[in-house]
Amino acid sequence: MLSQYADLCSVHEDALVLFQVGDFYEAFCEAAETVARVCEVTLTERTDSTGEYPMAGIPIDNAAPYLESLLDAGYRVALGDQVEDAEQASGLVDRAVTEVITPGTVVEDDLLESGTTNYVAALACDSVESEPTDTDSVLGLAAVDVSTGDCLVTAGDPDTVVGELDRVAPAELIVGPEANAFAPPDAAGDWERHEYDSEVFDRRTALDRLDPYVSAPERRFESDAELRAAGAVLAYAEYTQGDDGPLAYVSRIRRYDPRDHLRLDAAAQRSLELFENRGLGASDTLFDVLDETNCALGRRRLERWLRRPLVDPDAIRSRHDAVGELADRTLVREGVADALSTAYDLERLIGRVSRGRADARDLRSLYATLDVVPELQSTLAEPDSDRTADTASPADAASPADTPPTADAASPADTASPTDTESQFPRTDHLSDLRDRLDELAEIRELIDGAIAPDPPQEITEGGVIRDGFDDDLDELRATERAGREWVADLEASERERTGIDSLSIGHNQVHGYYIEVTDANLDRVPGDYRRRQTLKNSERYVTPELKDREEEIVGAAERADALEYELFVEVRERVAEETERIQALADALAELDALASLAAVAVANDYVRPEMVEDPDTGIRIEGGRHPVVERTEDAFVPNDADLPRGSVAVITGPNMSGKSTYMRQVALTVVLAQTGSFVPAQAARLPVFSRLFTRVGASDDIAGGQSTFMREMSELTDILHDAGPDSLVLLDEVGRGTATTDGRAIARAAAEFVHDELGATTLFATHYHELTDLADARERVFNLHFSATREDGEVTFLHRVVRGASSSSYGVEVAELAGVPTPVVDRSRELVTTDEADPAGDEDEGGDQEAGGDGSVVDEDSNIALDDNDADPNEVSLREFLAEEVDEERPTDPPTAPAAGDSAEPTDDLPPEVATTLRGLDLARMTPIEALNALHDLQNRLAHDD
Ligand code: ADP
Ligand code: MG
Repeated sequence: MLSQYADLCSVHEDALVLFQVGDFYEAFCEAAETVARVCEVTLTERTDSTGEYPMAGIPIDNAAPYLESLLDAGYRVALGDQVEDAEQASGLVDRAVTEVITPGTVVEDDLLESGTTNYVAALACDSVESEPTDTDSVLGLAAVDVSTGDCLVTAGDPDTVVGELDRVAPAELIVGPEANAFAPPDAAGDWERHEYDSEVFDRRTALDRLDPYVSAPERRFESDAELRAAGAVLAYAEYTQGDDGPLAYVSRIRRYDPRDHLRLDAAAQRSLELFENRGLGASDTLFDVLDETNCALGRRRLERWLRRPLVDPDAIRSRHDAVGELADRTLVREGVADALSTAYDLERLIGRVSRGRADARDLRSLYATLDVVPELQSTLAEPDSDRTADTASPADAASPADTPPTADAASPADTASPTDTESQFPRTDHLSDLRDRLDELAEIRELIDGAIAPDPPQEITEGGVIRDGFDDDLDELRATERAGREWVADLEASERERTGIDSLSIGHNQVHGYYIEVTDANLDRVPGDYRRRQTLKNSERYVTPELKDREEEIVGAAERADALEYELFVEVRERVAEETERIQALADALAELDALASLAAVAVANDYVRPEMVEDPDTGIRIEGGRHPVVERTEDAFVPNDADLPRGSVAVITGPNMSGKSTYMRQVALTVVLAQTGSFVPAQAARLPVFSRLFTRVGASDDIAGGQSTFMREMSELTDILHDAGPDSLVLLDEVGRGTATTDGRAIARAAAEFVHDELGATTLFATHYHELTDLADARERVFNLHFSATREDGEVTFLHRVVRGASSSSYGVEVAELAGVPTPVVDRSRELVTTDEADPAGDEDEGGDQEAGGDGSVVDEDSNIALDDNDADPNEVSLREFLAEEVDEERPTDPPTAPAAGDSAEPTDDLPPEVATTLRGLDLARMTPIEALNALHDLQNRLAHDD
């Protein structure tokens, strides 16, 4: 056995070989030690003719958790199964590796997260000769999900493809020797990386490999890089499935161009928290908000969509149409959700069917899923019963435009008879196409239902799998078996009667089969045709020739029935496998329907609107009452904000910490992502252009959640943006330059903003605490300022979270001090100090014409355009909430910090008349208009003058 083991090990050098021995997977020698350590199982000794060696095993029944531990520990596991019946084998049972389990190619449901995609990817370069770092070279990327057969291939310049790799986020990556230089190190992604020999990536080998998958592979692929990556990834996939030849369920190789999707690099995906929330403890992501899918198919599809939003306006609108229709037709949407919630993971099921791994339960699940199709078809075609159910839904108000005027005129309101309206549903092309794609596969559904028992056992070799009535021979065998058993059941009574022994009993055991048992006291009455079989302490067991015959008949029939059932089962499974492509196409339609229904449900539940997509290249972003889809769920009083960003403009956003700058920028970006994904958006109204790239860069010190962020990384990511962004890009720069000293940081931030504006023409949101950058608005045509401010309510400083045109005051700290209740003399003195300390040589007093007062009662501070002191003690650097907490705590600060300089006009008075102070403190600034505030101030001044 050990030499057989060693043989398999030498073929699968890079894997840990587990050997089936009965009910266990065993490892020997060195591998045994690994298994014992990683899986925490006992290391034992095995002795045979070759000597003594260590052995460790895991139970086959419950292998999943152990296999998971081994995968987690970075091992690949080759399963050496017995491929021959142990009872029939002469000598050693033949074993072969039937599967190599690796992180990227697992197919076991127990080891796979449901509703996610698990890719293994391969990366190849267009030619072996080209310089690996040559930016002109083309990289090919191919990825396959071995559990579903999903296979995609793309190619492009190294930057693009490495970005794609981030999106595909494979569990495992294999690279050829020459693509090595491009493949980012493991640390960048979560994948495990293997280097494969160049032979696998060889063009000729790849062509041969691909031949069974696609016709004329040399024409199907545009570049050699694609072809070779596809060949390599399929070679690996086949290898892990036991090298049994082509994987039939990889029936489509989807080639796509990254430029056909909104490109989001890894940094953008991360900082927008599409799939991962990096905040401490928080788990909300955009995907969590969007995921109201009802089955694994839909969940995977929605994830795929969100990873690759569209750029084709018609395709986007078409999804919006469908989402809109489902949002409007409540009963349809709910009916679809109900039906889909009973659907199983058709893609993985058909994968197993096609690999010959599906059991009877899998077929039953497949049947249950096919069974929802007719229901879905009729649900989708149903006339709008909800038109009467929930009267005057906003959708209906909008719908007349879409419906033919004749129908409308003939049947105003809800007098329409069902037959009139039937033909109009689904209303949108998208949904009606989808409905047409719902393939009933009636013959397969009936085949499974007629063949497979309703609640079959897991084992497919031990009977109970095939239904009565499916096969005559099987029915006959079963009848024989049944008749035999009945005969035996009747035997006890008849033998008791024949022999007169009342205690006579019939029994059965594994070794001796059926027997007649007679106690010692009655032995004298045993008839002559009884043959003794076994002697027990107080009794004897017998058989009769007749019983023996019957027994053989029963056993024979049962065995043949089991074997026949297995055969029939495999036939059914193969018949189903023949329809792999149709079933995959159905899975596709179900997935899409579920994803659309999810988007519709989210739109309704969260009050999203359909964005208008405009194609005019000059149109910018226009959002009314926009919200952050994730933050609004946790923030009780989320303040909606507008966004009006002309194409190619740069909005410089200032305001204290915690005032809402980052949230605002992200909500604009997320609105764009949502719209291009096909979703409705969290806003009152939105008009959006289609962007082709989205970049975000968050300053290093604001990126602490990211872990090892450094200024270096911040700068290298900024570099990417400055290289790649263009007029069709949306760029978010959040506190860029913050990771270094003020002088440098400010310089970098300014230079970057200028470059983005002058050279790239990208539509940009630029949040910064460098207030000086607000004067860019004067110098640059398409730069304008936005800011966030704060107010005081009930003695507490509150952030309004409202974005306002114009720059925030540089003396923001002073404003806030005033808001916090610091006495007027101190505030005035502080203002003065800020003014005299400021040595801005530019002396730029004019803010430019692009500002308007907030007009919303918030504290706006356009009157001052004084740059902050050039040192690191920038008051905006500390969280104002913390800063203020201390200030506000003090009932009333007493002494002003410094004595006033001579010539000061405003004499600081230590003793403010109590009634003035009380009035001052009682002013509710949040509710006052500027005029009221001025009047109040005037009043107070008068009173002070009066007191003097
Ligand atoms: P900044 O980037 O200006 O420091 P953030 O955008 O990080 O501020 O916002 C700070 C906090 O304020 C957020 O965590 C959120 O809880 C809250 N917030 C931000 N914007 C809004 C808003 N529009 N409405 C309500 N709360 C908001
Ligand atoms: Mg911020």
